[in-house]
Amino acid sequence: MKQTNQLLGEYGTTIFTTMSALAVEFNAINLGQGFPDSNGPDDILDEAVRAIKYESNQYPSMMGIKELREATAKHSKNFYDIDLDWENQTMITAGATEAIASSLFGLINPGDEVIMIEPLYDCYLPMVRRAGGIPKLVRIEPPNWQLPYEELEATFSPKTKLIILNSPTNPAAKVYKLPELEFIASLIEKYDAYAICDEVYEHLTYDGARHIPLITLPGMYERCVRISSAGKTFSMTGWKIGYSIGAPKLIEAASKAHQFLTFTAPPNLQYAVARGLKKEKDYFFNLGKDMELKRDLLTEGLESIGFNVLRSEGTYFLVADYSPLGDFGLDTEFCKTLIMDAGVGAVPFSAFYQQGRNDDLNNFVRFCYCKKNNTLELAINRLEKYFGAT
Ligand code: PMP
Ligand code: GLN
Repeated sequence: MKQTNQLLGEYGTTIFTTMSALAVEFNAINLGQGFPDSNGPDDILDEAVRAIKYESNQYPSMMGIKELREATAKHSKNFYDIDLDWENQTMITAGATEAIASSLFGLINPGDEVIMIEPLYDCYLPMVRRAGGIPKLVRIEPPNWQLPYEELEATFSPKTKLIILNSPTNPAAKVYKLPELEFIASLIEKYDAYAICDEVYEHLTYDGARHIPLITLPGMYERCVRISSAGKTFSMTGWKIGYSIGAPKLIEAASKAHQFLTFTAPPNLQYAVARGLKKEKDYFFNLGKDMELKRDLLTEGLESIGFNVLRSEGTYFLVADYSPLGDFGLDTEFCKTLIMDAGVGAVPFSAFYQQGRNDDLNNFVRFCYCKKNNTLELAINRLEKYFGAT
Protein backbone atom coordinates (compact mmCIF):
# COMPACT_ATOMS: atom_id res chain seq x y z
CA MET A 1 0.00 0.00 0.00
CA LYS A 2 1.08 3.59 -0.56
CA GLN A 3 2.88 5.48 2.17
CA THR A 4 1.08 8.01 4.34
CA ASN A 5 2.67 11.45 4.68
CA GLN A 6 6.35 10.79 5.13
CA LEU A 7 7.31 14.01 6.82
CA LEU A 8 4.71 13.79 9.61
CA GLY A 9 5.29 10.05 9.82
CA GLU A 10 8.78 10.83 11.12
CA TYR A 11 7.27 12.21 14.31
CA GLY A 12 6.18 10.01 17.19
CA THR A 13 3.31 10.86 19.54
CA THR A 14 3.95 14.21 21.26
CA ILE A 15 6.01 14.13 24.42
CA PHE A 16 3.12 15.72 26.34
CA THR A 17 0.73 12.90 25.48
CA THR A 18 3.38 10.26 26.07
CA MET A 19 4.34 11.57 29.50
CA SER A 20 0.73 12.21 30.56
CA ALA A 21 -0.26 8.65 29.62
CA LEU A 22 2.66 7.29 31.64
CA ALA A 23 1.72 9.52 34.59
CA VAL A 24 -1.86 8.15 34.51
CA GLU A 25 -0.60 4.57 34.23
CA PHE A 26 1.61 4.95 37.29
CA ASN A 27 -0.75 7.22 39.23
CA ALA A 28 1.91 9.94 39.30
CA ILE A 29 1.30 13.63 40.04
CA ASN A 30 1.52 15.12 36.57
CA LEU A 31 3.86 18.10 36.48
CA GLY A 32 4.63 17.32 32.84
CA GLN A 33 2.01 18.53 30.34
CA GLY A 34 1.08 22.14 31.16
CA PHE A 35 -2.51 22.32 32.37
CA PRO A 36 -4.02 23.67 35.59
CA ASP A 37 -5.85 21.32 37.97
CA SER A 38 -8.69 23.80 38.47
CA ASN A 39 -11.73 24.44 36.34
CA GLY A 40 -11.56 28.08 35.23
CA PRO A 41 -13.50 31.16 36.43
CA ASP A 42 -17.20 30.60 37.27
CA ASP A 43 -18.49 33.65 35.36
CA ILE A 44 -16.90 32.37 32.15
CA LEU A 45 -18.31 28.88 32.68
CA ASP A 46 -21.77 30.38 33.34
CA GLU A 47 -21.59 32.45 30.17
CA ALA A 48 -20.71 29.34 28.15
CA VAL A 49 -23.74 27.53 29.60
CA ARG A 50 -25.97 30.51 28.81
CA ALA A 51 -24.65 30.72 25.26
CA ILE A 52 -25.15 26.98 24.69
CA LYS A 53 -28.79 27.31 25.71
CA TYR A 54 -29.74 30.69 24.32
CA GLU A 55 -27.41 31.56 21.44
CA SER A 56 -27.16 29.87 18.07
CA ASN A 57 -25.31 26.58 17.99
CA GLN A 58 -24.87 26.75 14.21
CA TYR A 59 -21.72 27.84 12.38
CA PRO A 60 -20.62 31.23 13.62
CA SER A 61 -18.88 33.57 11.21
CA MET A 62 -15.65 32.23 9.76
CA MET A 63 -13.49 34.91 11.41
CA GLY A 64 -15.17 34.58 14.81
CA ILE A 65 -18.12 36.22 16.55
CA LYS A 66 -18.19 40.02 16.65
CA GLU A 67 -18.28 40.12 20.47
CA LEU A 68 -15.03 38.18 20.79
CA ARG A 69 -13.25 39.91 17.93
CA GLU A 70 -14.08 43.28 19.48
CA ALA A 71 -13.01 42.02 22.90
CA THR A 72 -9.61 40.84 21.61
CA ALA A 73 -9.03 44.23 19.97
CA LYS A 74 -9.99 46.05 23.17
CA HIS A 75 -7.79 43.79 25.28
CA SER A 76 -4.78 44.60 23.07
CA LYS A 77 -5.62 48.31 23.35
CA ASN A 78 -6.04 48.19 27.14
CA PHE A 79 -2.85 46.31 27.86
CA TYR A 80 -0.48 47.41 25.11
CA ASP A 81 -2.07 50.45 23.50
CA ILE A 82 -2.37 48.67 20.14
CA ASP A 83 -4.97 50.31 17.90
CA LEU A 84 -6.88 47.75 15.88
CA ASP A 85 -9.80 47.64 13.54
CA TRP A 86 -11.44 44.44 14.75
CA GLU A 87 -13.09 43.71 11.40
CA ASN A 88 -9.83 43.56 9.48
CA GLN A 89 -7.25 42.84 12.15
CA THR A 90 -8.57 40.03 14.34
CA MET A 91 -9.34 36.37 13.77
CA ILE A 92 -10.61 33.71 16.20
CA THR A 93 -9.10 30.24 15.88
CA ALA A 94 -9.24 26.74 17.38
CA GLY A 95 -6.62 27.50 20.02
CA ALA A 96 -3.29 29.19 19.54
CA THR A 97 -2.16 26.03 17.77
CA GLU A 98 -4.49 26.66 14.86
CA ALA A 99 -3.62 30.36 14.89
CA ILE A 100 0.04 29.37 14.46
CA ALA A 101 -0.80 26.81 11.77
CA SER A 102 -2.98 29.19 9.77
CA SER A 103 -0.36 31.95 9.96
CA LEU A 104 2.37 29.59 8.79
CA PHE A 105 0.29 28.07 6.00
CA GLY A 106 -0.96 31.49 4.97
CA LEU A 107 2.48 33.12 4.84
CA ILE A 108 5.03 30.52 3.80
CA ASN A 109 5.82 29.63 0.21
CA PRO A 110 7.80 26.40 -0.31
CA GLY A 111 11.50 27.18 0.03
CA ASP A 112 11.05 30.18 2.33
CA GLU A 113 13.38 30.21 5.30
CA VAL A 114 11.83 30.32 8.75
CA ILE A 115 13.87 31.22 11.81
CA MET A 116 13.06 29.52 15.11
CA ILE A 117 14.78 29.66 18.45
CA GLU A 118 15.63 26.45 20.32
CA PRO A 119 14.51 25.17 22.78
CA LEU A 120 11.13 25.46 21.08
CA TYR A 121 7.49 24.53 21.49
CA ASP A 122 6.83 21.22 19.81
CA CYS A 123 4.40 22.11 17.01
CA TYR A 124 6.53 24.77 15.30
CA LEU A 125 8.98 22.55 13.43
CA PRO A 126 6.58 20.00 11.95
CA MET A 127 4.18 22.75 10.87
CA VAL A 128 6.90 24.84 9.24
CA ARG A 129 8.26 21.81 7.43
CA ARG A 130 4.78 20.67 6.29
CA ALA A 131 4.16 24.19 4.96
CA GLY A 132 7.30 23.81 2.84
CA GLY A 133 9.42 26.18 4.92
CA ILE A 134 13.13 25.59 5.51
CA PRO A 135 13.83 25.68 9.27
CA LYS A 136 16.78 27.81 10.39
CA LEU A 137 17.48 27.25 14.04
CA VAL A 138 19.39 29.30 16.55
CA ARG A 139 19.77 28.43 20.21
CA ILE A 140 19.46 30.29 23.44
CA GLU A 141 21.57 28.59 26.10
CA PRO A 142 21.08 28.04 29.82
CA PRO A 143 21.37 29.31 32.45
CA ASN A 144 20.57 32.83 31.20
CA TRP A 145 19.02 32.11 27.82
CA GLN A 146 20.64 35.19 26.28
CA LEU A 147 19.76 35.92 22.67
CA PRO A 148 22.89 35.18 20.56
CA TYR A 149 22.85 38.45 18.61
CA GLU A 150 25.59 37.64 16.08
CA GLU A 151 24.36 34.16 15.37
CA LEU A 152 20.81 35.38 14.94
CA GLU A 153 21.93 38.06 12.53
CA ALA A 154 23.90 35.48 10.53
CA THR A 155 20.78 33.29 10.32
CA PHE A 156 18.74 35.98 8.59
CA SER A 157 19.08 36.11 4.80
CA PRO A 158 17.15 37.51 1.84
CA LYS A 159 15.31 34.16 1.83
CA THR A 160 14.02 34.66 5.39
CA LYS A 161 10.24 34.83 5.31
CA LEU A 162 9.58 35.00 9.00
CA ILE A 163 10.73 34.33 12.53
CA ILE A 164 8.62 32.61 15.16
CA LEU A 165 9.04 34.43 18.44
CA ASN A 166 7.61 32.90 21.59
CA SER A 167 7.71 35.22 24.60
CA PRO A 168 7.25 34.36 27.43
CA THR A 169 8.86 31.18 26.15
CA ASN A 170 7.87 27.62 26.67
CA PRO A 171 10.00 25.77 27.82
CA ALA A 172 12.89 28.12 28.76
CA ALA A 173 10.55 30.42 30.77
CA LYS A 174 12.38 33.46 29.41
CA VAL A 175 10.68 36.82 28.94
CA TYR A 176 12.30 38.76 26.08
CA LYS A 177 13.53 42.23 27.08
CA LEU A 178 13.23 45.43 25.10
CA PRO A 179 16.84 45.51 23.71
CA GLU A 180 16.45 41.93 22.43
CA LEU A 181 13.12 42.78 20.82
CA GLU A 182 14.61 45.90 19.27
CA PHE A 183 17.39 43.83 17.77
CA ILE A 184 14.97 41.25 16.38
CA ALA A 185 12.79 44.06 14.98
CA SER A 186 15.79 45.63 13.25
CA LEU A 187 16.60 42.33 11.51
CA ILE A 188 12.99 41.80 10.48
CA GLU A 189 12.97 45.24 8.86
CA LYS A 190 16.38 44.85 7.29
CA TYR A 191 15.44 41.55 5.65
CA ASP A 192 11.83 42.49 4.84
CA ALA A 193 10.56 39.58 6.96
CA TYR A 194 7.56 38.90 9.21
CA ALA A 195 7.13 37.58 12.75
CA ILE A 196 4.64 35.14 14.16
CA CYS A 197 4.51 36.04 17.83
CA ASP A 198 3.29 33.29 20.13
CA GLU A 199 2.28 35.22 23.25
CA VAL A 200 -0.01 32.69 24.93
CA TYR A 201 1.68 33.32 28.31
CA GLU A 202 1.37 37.11 27.99
CA HIS A 203 -0.19 37.52 31.46
CA LEU A 204 2.20 35.14 33.21
CA THR A 205 5.37 37.13 33.89
CA TYR A 206 7.07 37.43 37.28
CA ASP A 207 9.39 39.54 39.42
CA GLY A 208 8.17 42.71 37.75
CA ALA A 209 9.12 41.50 34.25
CA ARG A 210 6.83 43.05 31.64
CA HIS A 211 5.59 41.32 28.53
CA ILE A 212 6.27 43.51 25.50
CA PRO A 213 4.53 42.41 22.27
CA LEU A 214 6.95 42.72 19.33
CA ILE A 215 4.12 44.28 17.32
CA THR A 216 4.30 47.41 19.53
CA LEU A 217 7.86 48.23 18.38
CA PRO A 218 8.42 50.82 15.65
CA GLY A 219 8.00 49.33 12.18
CA MET A 220 6.49 46.09 13.48
CA TYR A 221 2.78 46.88 13.18
CA GLU A 222 2.72 45.75 9.55
CA ARG A 223 4.98 42.75 10.07
CA CYS A 224 3.72 40.81 13.11
CA VAL A 225 0.90 38.42 13.86
CA ARG A 226 0.31 38.44 17.61
CA ILE A 227 -1.24 35.21 18.88
CA SER A 228 -2.74 34.40 22.25
CA SER A 229 -5.06 31.83 23.80
CA ALA A 230 -7.98 31.67 26.23
CA GLY A 231 -6.50 28.37 27.39
CA LYS A 232 -3.72 30.15 29.28
CA THR A 233 -5.40 33.46 30.08
CA PHE A 234 -8.39 31.76 31.70
CA SER A 235 -6.76 28.52 32.85
CA MET A 236 -8.96 26.39 30.59
CA THR A 237 -6.53 24.64 28.29
CA GLY A 238 -9.20 22.29 26.89
CA TRP A 239 -11.26 25.08 25.41
CA LYS A 240 -8.97 25.69 22.45
CA ILE A 241 -10.04 29.22 21.64
CA GLY A 242 -7.19 31.30 20.24
CA TYR A 243 -6.92 34.69 18.62
CA SER A 244 -4.63 36.33 16.08
CA ILE A 245 -4.27 40.06 15.64
CA GLY A 246 -2.17 41.90 13.10
CA ALA A 247 -2.03 43.93 9.92
CA PRO A 248 -5.02 43.32 7.59
CA LYS A 249 -2.74 41.77 4.95
CA LEU A 250 -1.38 39.19 7.41
CA ILE A 251 -4.73 38.35 9.00
CA GLU A 252 -6.23 37.94 5.55
CA ALA A 253 -3.40 35.60 4.55
CA ALA A 254 -3.90 33.52 7.70
CA SER A 255 -7.67 33.45 7.15
CA LYS A 256 -7.10 31.76 3.78
CA ALA A 257 -5.66 28.79 5.65
CA HIS A 258 -8.07 29.02 8.61
CA GLN A 259 -11.12 28.74 6.35
CA PHE A 260 -9.92 25.37 5.09
CA LEU A 261 -8.43 24.04 8.34
CA THR A 262 -11.21 24.52 10.89
CA PHE A 263 -13.31 27.32 9.32
CA THR A 264 -14.46 28.53 12.76
CA ALA A 265 -14.53 27.71 16.49
CA PRO A 266 -17.44 26.80 18.85
CA PRO A 267 -19.73 29.85 19.22
CA ASN A 268 -20.67 29.31 22.87
CA LEU A 269 -17.04 29.18 23.97
CA GLN A 270 -16.40 32.33 21.96
CA TYR A 271 -19.15 34.17 23.87
CA ALA A 272 -17.68 32.98 27.14
CA VAL A 273 -14.12 34.03 26.25
CA ALA A 274 -15.45 37.45 25.19
CA ARG A 275 -16.89 37.76 28.70
CA GLY A 276 -13.51 36.77 30.12
CA LEU A 277 -11.54 39.32 28.13
CA LYS A 278 -13.83 42.06 29.49
CA LYS A 279 -12.82 41.28 33.07
CA GLU A 280 -11.26 44.00 35.20
CA LYS A 281 -7.48 44.41 34.84
CA ASP A 282 -7.07 43.01 38.37
CA TYR A 283 -8.03 39.55 37.13
CA PHE A 284 -5.09 39.49 34.71
CA PHE A 285 -2.61 40.87 37.25
CA ASN A 286 -3.74 38.40 39.91
CA LEU A 287 -3.36 35.50 37.48
CA GLY A 288 0.35 36.32 37.24
CA LYS A 289 0.74 37.04 40.95
CA ASP A 290 -0.82 33.71 41.95
CA MET A 291 1.31 31.84 39.44
CA GLU A 292 4.47 33.58 40.71
CA LEU A 293 3.79 32.17 44.20
CA LYS A 294 3.39 28.70 42.73
CA ARG A 295 6.66 29.12 40.88
CA ASP A 296 8.31 30.04 44.19
CA LEU A 297 6.77 27.08 45.97
CA LEU A 298 8.01 24.56 43.40
CA THR A 299 11.40 26.27 42.97
CA GLU A 300 12.10 26.20 46.71
CA GLY A 301 10.89 22.61 47.04
CA LEU A 302 13.07 21.36 44.20
CA GLU A 303 16.10 23.33 45.41
CA SER A 304 15.78 21.90 48.91
CA ILE A 305 15.89 18.40 47.38
CA GLY A 306 19.07 19.27 45.45
CA PHE A 307 17.88 20.19 41.94
CA ASN A 308 19.58 23.16 40.35
CA VAL A 309 16.56 25.23 39.28
CA LEU A 310 16.90 27.83 36.53
CA ARG A 311 15.04 31.08 37.07
CA SER A 312 11.56 31.03 35.57
CA GLU A 313 10.61 34.54 34.46
CA GLY A 314 7.20 33.58 33.11
CA THR A 315 4.86 30.81 31.75
CA TYR A 316 3.66 27.69 33.61
CA PHE A 317 7.10 26.12 33.63
CA LEU A 318 10.54 25.89 35.18
CA VAL A 319 13.64 24.07 34.02
CA ALA A 320 15.68 22.03 36.49
CA ASP A 321 19.09 20.41 36.25
CA TYR A 322 19.03 17.07 38.05
CA SER A 323 22.75 16.26 37.78
CA PRO A 324 23.51 17.35 41.39
CA LEU A 325 21.27 14.46 42.55
CA GLY A 326 23.54 11.75 41.16
CA ASP A 327 23.82 9.70 37.99
CA PHE A 328 20.28 9.16 36.73
CA GLY A 329 21.09 8.80 33.04
CA LEU A 330 19.68 10.84 30.17
CA ASP A 331 16.63 13.06 30.61
CA THR A 332 14.09 10.64 29.10
CA GLU A 333 15.31 7.87 31.35
CA PHE A 334 15.22 10.22 34.34
CA CYS A 335 11.62 11.23 33.59
CA LYS A 336 10.58 7.58 33.45
CA THR A 337 12.26 6.96 36.79
CA LEU A 338 10.51 10.03 38.23
CA ILE A 339 7.10 8.78 37.15
CA MET A 340 7.53 5.09 37.93
CA ASP A 341 9.57 5.27 41.13
CA ALA A 342 9.02 8.74 42.61
CA GLY A 343 5.40 9.22 41.43
CA VAL A 344 5.90 12.63 39.76
CA GLY A 345 5.64 13.48 36.04
CA ALA A 346 7.94 15.91 34.17
CA VAL A 347 9.02 16.44 30.56
CA PRO A 348 12.53 15.63 29.27
CA PHE A 349 14.11 18.83 28.00
CA SER A 350 15.66 17.25 24.91
CA ALA A 351 12.12 17.01 23.45
CA PHE A 352 12.28 20.75 22.78
CA TYR A 353 15.11 20.45 20.25
CA GLN A 354 15.00 19.40 16.62
CA GLN A 355 17.03 16.26 17.12
CA GLY A 356 17.32 16.08 20.86
CA ARG A 357 20.59 17.25 22.36
CA ASN A 358 23.44 14.85 22.32
CA ASP A 359 25.70 16.93 24.48
CA ASP A 360 26.02 18.04 28.08
CA LEU A 361 22.45 19.36 28.13
CA ASN A 362 20.86 16.00 28.69
CA ASN A 363 20.31 16.48 32.37
CA PHE A 364 17.47 18.99 32.28
CA VAL A 365 13.75 18.48 32.84
CA ARG A 366 10.75 20.78 32.61
CA PHE A 367 8.28 20.87 35.50
CA CYS A 368 4.98 22.74 35.37
CA TYR A 369 3.68 24.59 38.44
CA CYS A 370 0.20 25.70 37.31
CA LYS A 371 -1.32 23.44 39.94
CA LYS A 372 -3.07 23.82 43.30
CA ASN A 373 -0.61 24.45 46.12
CA ASN A 374 -1.41 21.14 47.77
CA THR A 375 -0.74 19.30 44.49
CA LEU A 376 2.70 20.95 44.35
CA GLU A 377 3.35 20.17 48.02
CA LEU A 378 2.38 16.56 47.52
CA ALA A 379 4.73 16.31 44.53
CA ILE A 380 7.58 17.86 46.52
CA ASN A 381 6.96 15.39 49.37
CA ARG A 382 7.11 12.47 46.99
CA LEU A 383 10.36 13.74 45.47
CA GLU A 384 11.86 14.37 48.93
CA LYS A 385 11.02 10.83 49.95
CA TYR A 386 12.45 9.32 46.79
CA PHE A 387 15.68 11.32 46.60
CA GLY A 388 16.15 11.24 50.38
CA ALA A 389 16.21 7.45 50.17
CA THR A 390 18.52 7.04 47.14
N1 PMP B 1 2.14 27.97 22.18
C1 PMP B 1 2.76 27.64 23.30
C2 PMP B 1 4.10 28.23 23.59
C3 PMP B 1 2.19 26.75 24.19
O1 PMP B 1 2.82 26.41 25.31
C4 PMP B 1 0.95 26.19 23.88
C5 PMP B 1 0.41 25.15 24.80
N2 PMP B 1 -0.74 25.32 25.24
C6 PMP B 1 0.30 26.59 22.69
C7 PMP B 1 0.93 27.46 21.85
C8 PMP B 1 -1.02 26.03 22.27
O2 PMP B 1 -2.11 26.77 22.75
P1 PMP B 1 -3.60 26.26 22.52
O3 PMP B 1 -3.85 25.19 23.51
O4 PMP B 1 -4.45 27.46 22.71
O5 PMP B 1 -3.68 25.72 21.13
N1 GLN C 1 1.40 23.54 25.92
C1 GLN C 1 1.38 22.36 26.72
C2 GLN C 1 2.77 22.13 27.31
O1 GLN C 1 3.74 22.71 26.86
C3 GLN C 1 1.01 21.11 25.99
C4 GLN C 1 -0.06 21.19 24.95
C5 GLN C 1 -0.24 19.85 24.31
O2 GLN C 1 -0.25 18.83 24.97
N2 GLN C 1 -0.31 19.85 23.02
O3 GLN C 1 2.88 21.36 28.20
